[in-house]
Amino acid sequence: MLSDTQVLVNTDSADLITSIEQLRSVLPAITDSMAATMAGIAQRYTFRLPRFYAEKILLNDIHDPLWALALPNAGELADTGEERWDAFQLADRAVNHPRWIQKYRYEALLRVTDFCSGLCRYCYLKNRDVTPGRISHQEIDAMFDQAEQSPQRRELREIILSGGDPLAVPAGVLEHFAMRMDRLNKTVSRRITVTIHTREPVWYPQRILGNAALHQALKKLSPASYILHVVHPREVTPELHQAMLALTELSDSRRPLMMSQHPLFRGINDSAAIITDMYDRMDSGPVVFKPYYLIHPFPDGTLPEHRLTLLESQKILRDLASAPGTRVPLLTIPTPMGKCVIGPYEQLTDRGGYYLLHTKDGVPVQYAISPHYDPAETREHIPIMPEIHRAAVV
Ligand code: SF4
Repeated sequence: MLSDTQVLVNTDSADLITSIEQLRSVLPAITDSMAATMAGIAQRYTFRLPRFYAEKILLNDIHDPLWALALPNAGELADTGEERWDAFQLADRAVNHPRWIQKYRYEALLRVTDFCSGLCRYCYLKNRDVTPGRISHQEIDAMFDQAEQSPQRRELREIILSGGDPLAVPAGVLEHFAMRMDRLNKTVSRRITVTIHTREPVWYPQRILGNAALHQALKKLSPASYILHVVHPREVTPELHQAMLALTELSDSRRPLMMSQHPLFRGINDSAAIITDMYDRMDSGPVVFKPYYLIHPFPDGTLPEHRLTLLESQKILRDLASAPGTRVPLLTIPTPMGKCVIGPYEQLTDRGGYYLLHTKDGVPVQYAISPHYDPAETREHIPIMPEIHRAAVV
């Protein structure tokens, strides 16, 4: 479960809603019984929502589908907490540290914090043992000291800063990363780039806009790309465009790629029309933008009523595919053994209750076919094949 180990600074305290009572002052359509349910769920899974998101993006309407993504609801109790997305890592990874997640020899992901300004109700991390709190300078040094000594660093091509949200950490943390990235890059012949995964420009763009210390740190870090987590057309605000522009303009040269990824949810963004509208709005601003990943829902974390079958996700991709390649995302299926990517016209064959998929590295995965959510379902239904996994990564 995500913890609130970080002390909010004063501006955050005013800008972040942390109780159902505060929320009702912005969304008075919440009824007494809904408020009671929300408060009960919030006892189990922390509630936090930026005031900006509540006021500018949510509708004061109990039928607004975005309520289920942002406000506590009973569907969350169906989360079994057995998501195994991070469970399997390379035996031969460059760094051994709980915040260093490495499933591929060419890419590592760093969980730099467990904090996000808003907490997505579908977050698969909320019910998991994640390393609490924000990364310290000592932890960064411990990881990069190992990386500098590891022969595996020569295969690394990208380090992803993720979380929680890396744009919600103090600027000093990012400056320290920048310094250690520079040092690490001096030990390899091919540059290791940095990518930042963030939802902060959607939740709370004010944290980015006009934040000189953050800008200074990001200028030093000089990420090659940002992957924005945007799930619905209404989340594309003028403030999001301003934040994208601010992040892009920090670099005088080698401006970062601005991309997006988002899960697919039934009733929220489960049609090519909605997704195209979102992409069009993203692209209507001053920053060039590339749709990157459509993410088939995680078995755990995703609320039961939002789950799609793999064939339904593939149909959405097919409906998006007749467009220039720059406008077409990849459909990725998260599995314990890594991401699988499938094409719009790939034949998915029922092999006795599962599809045979392959990760990006060619590792076979038996992906269970489950057209409807089964509360008894767990990730155990996606068996891993350890002998093949080992063979593939050695
Ligand atoms: S932004 Fe990402 S890490 Fe943060 S709560 Fe949402 S899904 Fe979880």
